[in-house]
Amino acid sequence: MRRILVAGNWKMHGSLAMVDELISALVSGSSTDESADLAVFPPFPYLDRVRNLLQDTGIAWGGQTLNPVAQGAYTGEVSASMLLDLGCSMVLVGHSERRALFGESDEDVAVRFDAAHKSGLQPVLCVGETLEEREAGITEQVVGRQIDAVIGRYGIQAFAQAIVAYEPVWAIGTGKTASPDQAQAVHAFIRDKLSGADGIIGGQIRILYGGSVNGSNAADLFAQDDIDGGLVGGASLKAGEFLAIRDAAR
Ligand code: PGA
Repeated sequence: MRRILVAGNWKMHGSLAMVDELISALVSGSSTDESADLAVFPPFPYLDRVRNLLQDTGIAWGGQTLNPVAQGAYTGEVSASMLLDLGCSMVLVGHSERRALFGESDEDVAVRFDAAHKSGLQPVLCVGETLEEREAGITEQVVGRQIDAVIGRYGIQAFAQAIVAYEPVWAIGTGKTASPDQAQAVHAFIRDKLSGADGIIGGQIRILYGGSVNGSNAADLFAQDDIDGGLVGGASLKAGEFLAIRDAAR
């Protein structure tokens, strides 16, 4: 049985005041016997505050990216050990904004995935096609290539502790969600692909859907066989909406 995970990607949003308000609302709206796991991915400067507020609540937190190098002259970058120091248990890798705006190639993403995995952080590998790629009928080819970039370098075992997030680029921040059927089809493709390499890993891995998830569409998405939760951007900045997505897992 795979437990639903509802993960909030705050992107570059927030302030200390907002962190305090949002996290205290999440904590008071949660209990430890939830039907779903919750996690938040705040901007780096707020991780320490989030750690203090979330300690012992059962809600996890993580970084939005990492540099794969252990330490050194990399101005502006953050390493896996720094995230671990701040109590992170997870890290996003290869979010489409990292790929599109910061030029991360499939190989860059794979190297980050491996650095996270080796350090003991749970990598959340984000994959997904653009609108042009979907219209060209190459969604599976693109998503398959993004996953193969990791398997080819590090093997299927690298996925044993990982999470995959399928986020069609055309659905991110646009209000256009993939239909439950559209999402399920790609999730099943991803699971089959991983299962083909290792049946146990493929069966156990959580595959999240991301792209305009909200309190109204989450239940239909989470009801799909191969959708194990959501990676939520905009709607994770409002406690009520984020908790409504969590409730959709019931
Ligand atoms: P969105 O973002 O929910 O605002 O579409 C999802 C994401 O980018 O992870």
